[in-house]
Amino acid sequence: MLPIQDVFPLLQTPSKVFITTHHKPDGDAIGSMMALYHYLIKKGHTVTAVTPNEVPDFLEWIPGTKKMLNFEEQQQEALTALKNADYIFGVDFNTFSRTKYLEQALTEATQPKILIDHHMFPSNLWNYGISIPEKSSTCEMVYDFINRNGDNELIDKNIAACIYTGVMTDTGSFRFAVTTPAVHVMVADLMSKGLDHARVHEEVNDSWTEGRMRFLGYVLIERMEVFKELNTAFISLSKKDLNLFNIKSGDTEGLVNYPLSIANIKFATLITERSDEVRLSFRSKGSFDVNAFARNYFEGGGHFNASGGKSNLNFVETIEKFKKIISEVHPN
Ligand code: 5GP
Ligand code: MN
Repeated sequence: MLPIQDVFPLLQTPSKVFITTHHKPDGDAIGSMMALYHYLIKKGHTVTAVTPNEVPDFLEWIPGTKKMLNFEEQQQEALTALKNADYIFGVDFNTFSRTKYLEQALTEATQPKILIDHHMFPSNLWNYGISIPEKSSTCEMVYDFINRNGDNELIDKNIAACIYTGVMTDTGSFRFAVTTPAVHVMVADLMSKGLDHARVHEEVNDSWTEGRMRFLGYVLIERMEVFKELNTAFISLSKKDLNLFNIKSGDTEGLVNYPLSIANIKFATLITERSDEVRLSFRSKGSFDVNAFARNYFEGGGHFNASGGKSNLNFVETIEKFKKIISEVHPN
C-alpha cells in the first residue's frame, strides 16, 4: 500500500470517485464516507457514495444521505458507478468482506483502491492508503486527509457535522481512551466552522422510538447474563425478541456497552440472531484484547477494545460456545 499523500497529485484532475464503507454502517462509517463525499465534490470530482445496506434512522439526517446509493436496493446503479469510477475509496473498514455483498465487485475492480481506516490488519488489496489503529475514528482521519491536502478552509458546516458524528460515536462521546488532545483540538476547529454539536447529539441519541426504549428495558431485565467472577456480561437477542419489538437494524446500536457500566465488568458481548447468521459484538475496558478474542473464536476482528464477529453455529449453540470460552479464557 503506497502512502496516502501519493493520492493527492492524482486528485488534482477532476475524476469519478466511488466511495464505500462497511456493511451495517455506523456513525463513523456514514460520517467519514459523507465527509469525504462533500469534500471531493468541492474539489470538482463526480462522487458516488454507496452504503452496502440501509442507513440506520439515527443517521438519516446526515447531509447528503438522500443521494447515497444503497447497494441492497440500487445494485445496478451502484455497479455502474463502480465500473465507471477512476478511483475507489474505502473508509472505516479494511477487508472487502466487511462490505458483504460488494466484496466480489471490489475484488474484481481494477481501478486504484484507496484506504482510510483505523482497524487493525488491513488486507493487502489496497493500492494507496493510511491505516492507523490508534486513531479515534475514521472521521478524524478524513479530517487529517483534508488538512494534509491543504484544504482546511473547505471544511464547512456540513462536513463538520459528518466528521463530528463519527468521532462522537466512535469515542463514546469523547470518553474512551482513544480521545487524544488532537481530537479535542479538531472539535474546536469544527466548532469554529459552524458545527452545531448539540444538534448532532440530539439527532443521534434522542431519536429513539418508544418501542426501542421499552426494548432496552426488556433486554436488560430478561436478556442480560452477568458472570461477576469472570468480569463478563453478555446480552443475547433471538430473532423472536427482535420481531416482538419490531426492532430494526440500527436499534441494537449501543446495547453492547450497557453491561460495561456495571462495576468490575470488563468484557461485554452482544449475541444477535440475524436472518442469515449469528453476529457477535465485543467490548472491553482495560487490558482484555477483544480484537484477538474475535479473531480467535468468531472469525472477526476490529479494535483492541471493540470488535465483532460471527458464528456458524445456531443461536443457542453459539451462546453455549461463548460461555464455555469465557470460563476457560477468564477475561479480566
Ligand atoms: P460492532 O460491534 O459495532 O459491529 O463492531 C465493533 C468494531 O469491530 C467495529 O470497528 C467493526 O468495524 C469491527 N468489526 C465488527 N465485526 C467485524 C468482523 O466480522 N470482522 C472484522 N474484521 N471487524 C469487525
Ligand atoms: Mn470507526
